[in-house]
Amino acid sequence: MTDTPAPAASPAPADDAARPGSVLVVGGGVAGFAAVRELRRRGHAGELTLVEPQGLPYDRPPLSKEFLTGDADAHRLLLAPPPWFAEHRVTLVARRAERLELDDDGAARPRVVLDDGAVLTADAVVLAPGGRPRLLAVPGGDHPDVAVLRTRADAERIAARLHLGARVTVIGGGFTGAEVASAAREVLAEVTLVSASAAPALAAVGPALAARLHVLHAERGVDVLEGLVTRIDHADADAPHRVHVRHPDGSEASVAADLVVAAVGIAPNTALAEAAGLEVDGGILVDETGRTSHPAVFAVGDAVRRRGTEGTSPHAARHWEPALHSGQDVAAAILGEEAPARGTPWFWSDRHGVHVEGAGSMLPVPGGRIVDRAVRGTVVAGFALDADGRMTGAAAVDDPMAVKAARRIIDRGIVVDPARLADPDVPVRALLRG
Ligand SMILES: Cc1cc2nc3c(=O)[nH]c(=O)nc-3n(C[C@H](O)[C@H](O)[C@H](O)COP(=O)(O)OP(=O)(O)OC[C@H]3O[C@@H](n4cnc5c(N)ncnc54)[C@H](O)[C@@H]3O)c2cc1C
Repeated sequence: MTDTPAPAASPAPADDAARPGSVLVVGGGVAGFAAVRELRRRGHAGELTLVEPQGLPYDRPPLSKEFLTGDADAHRLLLAPPPWFAEHRVTLVARRAERLELDDDGAARPRVVLDDGAVLTADAVVLAPGGRPRLLAVPGGDHPDVAVLRTRADAERIAARLHLGARVTVIGGGFTGAEVASAAREVLAEVTLVSASAAPALAAVGPALAARLHVLHAERGVDVLEGLVTRIDHADADAPHRVHVRHPDGSEASVAADLVVAAVGIAPNTALAEAAGLEVDGGILVDETGRTSHPAVFAVGDAVRRRGTEGTSPHAARHWEPALHSGQDVAAAILGEEAPARGTPWFWSDRHGVHVEGAGSMLPVPGGRIVDRAVRGTVVAGFALDADGRMTGAAAVDDPMAVKAARRIIDRGIVVDPARLADPDVPVRALLRG
């Protein structure tokens, strides 16, 4: 994250009396670390503590990409070099927060109890515990040998078993599953990908691009099975693992594997918040500033779900940039300052040498439509329009500039001409003029 440019102007300081003396952040992923860094950048001079059991904060996107293929080492993952913490007077506590203790009336400061029994208190607490991989709810699915991918240790464990000829079965065709399958092919493993759908990631990239991206797997030598995993046997006579799959037509198949990776979604880490009595519903519930149902406790990143003026958001965008922004914005809120306007959430993903980006949601809205852009019959981008012709989502392959322009079109609420949008000879930025 050291490459993220800081906003040009420093914000005006708020009334000092409104600022908390000390802040404690639980969780040092991109969201928690962004909160810490932004607090100092905005001039928070008080105590600042980051509790992260894995030690130095690191970034996750490379874990399913270059780190898995051995093209990036652990040092390159770090969100800040080790001296940064002392230089910025941030106390990094390499422990796990076990409990959050709160007084109903808010009279006493929140207390965080660590796994060694130590108790830390602060004027404001930020919860940034992220998410954890969902387990596969089938017999054998929760076996410890079924690998998942969330942490550096998970990635190291998978990477150590990716090699020429290794039989690797990846379960789940979403972004993480697709990236793992791609990385495994890169090191010439024999890869099977089991996907419940022939067009996963549909909500993020739309039906045509989702189908095109999925077909890429087979083109790059991945054996793709459509269906649901019904059982995983371990210690089969021919292989360490055997994955049983039921196809949509009811037929069944089984795949022998040396390594099974389950990439079937993320569950937000809400236990700490829930046990403390904070409101939780599919995520730690926060308002638009990141504040939870307790005035001195904030929450950010993949663990949260936002309540808006129109009700709770139907789903949280669990991507890197929204997590980063939520951390930065909560720092502003804690200090009583304005956070910048953020606009439509954005994400990227890479597979088989192809770079995908998207903004907003590609799910069709009532009365709306999806417009695809194709070059010589191959879909290169998709756009979702609402009933009035305003863009609500965009995604493109190997064309970040198109998505950048589309994001501005979405943010400005510009009505676009579908025919020009579909025309690959019209740069998307030209539609910014309406
Ligand atoms: C393999 C992988 C690849 C990804 N690739 C992309 C991509 O290409 N593009 C994209 O847009 N997004 C990508 N993402 C998503 C993005 O990385 C996440 O949205 C982001 O990491 C969320 O940040 P976070 O800080 O909320 O959570 P996390 O990154 O999960 O960090 C949470 C931290 O909290 C700590 N923690 C948990 N419980 C406690 C506790 N009780 N006490 C103290 N600490 C605790 C954990 O140890 C962890 O370090 C990827 C995610 C993964 C896992």
